Amino acid sequence: MNILNGKPIVVNVNGLKIGRGNPPVIIAGPCAVESRDQIIEIAKILKQIGVDMIRGGAFKPRTNPYTFQGLGVKALEFLKEASELTNLPVVTEVMDIKDIDVVYEYADVMQVGSRNMYNYSLLKELGKRDKPILLKRGMSSTVKEWALAAEYIAIGGNSQIILCERGIRTYNDFTRNTLDLAAVPFMQKLTGLPVIVDPSHATGVRELIKPMAKAAIACNADGVMIEVHPNVEKALSDKEQSLTPAQFEEIVLEIERIS
Ligand code: PEP
Ligand code: MN
Repeated sequence: MNILNGKPIVVNVNGLKIGRGNPPVIIAGPCAVESRDQIIEIAKILKQIGVDMIRGGAFKPRTNPYTFQGLGVKALEFLKEASELTNLPVVTEVMDIKDIDVVYEYADVMQVGSRNMYNYSLLKELGKRDKPILLKRGMSSTVKEWALAAEYIAIGGNSQIILCERGIRTYNDFTRNTLDLAAVPFMQKLTGLPVIVDPSHATGVRELIKPMAKAAIACNADGVMIEVHPNVEKALSDKEQSLTPAQFEEIVLEIERIS
């Protein structure tokens, strides 16, 4: 790797600094933006709880094509409104090169999902943009492949990249994925980039999110990203791993205590 060589890189999201020497960033929101009311309601609650950034999928990479695929551009508009009302930046996934321009227009951070970590044409295009990228780890990727995917973005001139450990596929079947926490300090040192942890997709199990979020902070992760829904029983995607605002608030209090 030439550009990402371990020299610390602090990512700046509208003045919010993520990475070496800064407090861990807390990102939360629903798996998917389901309606204007839903995202505005949860954004207001999350603001009160004290998060730094909101998340919500507009274009959803669902395993099953017959399930909710996201509201697309409408969701981006709702996210923007929620962001303006709360003054919180937003991160949302861009799945396809053809959507980069519209996602760029509405999002503060553009997310590359696990399934697209190997999409080198998408990574190259995102490297030409001047907005931070949140690059999730491919579900079967080695740390080296993940670092090189980040390098693909950096080559284009954009080294404002946040890495996100979201669990990898192993033989274990008690969680959705296996959270690889050792990758956090390893990737921080190898690339110099901030590394955050997504305990929601890493475990897929509501009860395991709090202990894994605490573990992430304990190993010096630069932040966490957690799925929270205002009405978990009605969530259209990732219901089993969505936290209620009250459950999420407990995690935030713990993080404040230990960080
Ligand atoms: C997400 O964060 O919305 C998501 C789909 O996660 P992943 O790409 O890690 O599966
Ligand atoms: Mn999800």
